[in-house]
Amino acid sequence: MTFIDTHTHLYGEEFDADRAEMVERAREAGAEKLLLPNVDEESIGRMLQMCDDFPDLCLPMMGLQPEELPADPWPLVKKMKHLLYTTPERYCAVGEVGIDLYWDQSRREEQIEVFREEIHWANELHKPLVIHARNAHQDIVTTLREADTSQIPGGIFHCFGGTIEEARELLTFDGFYLGIGGIVTFKKSTLPAVLHACVPLHRILLETDAPYLTPVPHRGKRNESAYIPHIIDKLSEIYDTTTEEVARITTENARNLFAI
Ligand SMILES: [Zn+2]
Repeated sequence: MTFIDTHTHLYGEEFDADRAEMVERAREAGAEKLLLPNVDEESIGRMLQMCDDFPDLCLPMMGLQPEELPADPWPLVKKMKHLLYTTPERYCAVGEVGIDLYWDQSRREEQIEVFREEIHWANELHKPLVIHARNAHQDIVTTLREADTSQIPGGIFHCFGGTIEEARELLTFDGFYLGIGGIVTFKKSTLPAVLHACVPLHRILLETDAPYLTPVPHRGKRNESAYIPHIIDKLSEIYDTTTEEVARITTENARNLFAI
């Protein structure tokens, strides 16, 4: 069984002490690729270093995580654009980008402006878009609908945790997938029922968001890509199929989206 972890921050300092061992565990568990989303300015160097260290396994993305907007985001946005446009072949996607109004609503307009700019990059460079949305479903949908996305091959609504209505609305975007991770294994999660009700397996991608959102039975500890099989187990229950089938379909989904 092999899988692709489509969203994992393994370059973080949480892994500085045992990164090589952690990558080895991911390989042994079946990881075929590990896709690394960027978050801020400091993460760029760490992410690219990790991709240099494990070139057969790790692929970087480029974008500004909406919670990490600097006081003036535009110099950093410009720097990211420069990196992306000078070496577009290096990056597998524009990500992670989007809108997050969970802790702070005061910069909503700026977050939307930056997100619009990043959608434009994905469209110009024909890259998938990896979207982080929290308390921002309607803003994400509206911003995407208003933008020119005709050249974007698709993308991921990362860490999806919404309602049946929200899932249905997001699936109207062609080529987009719901990113499913540890939350689906949490005891009180409503996600299994939502997936069962309206999301076919061919619209799902696997992700850890490591070091966060650790699946049961490791909940409370640091997350890592070797834990993806726990998510596969849970999905096989939800879809009443084998773990091999879940791994095969979701891996194919990821290969198609990222042209791997
Ligand atoms: Zn992330």
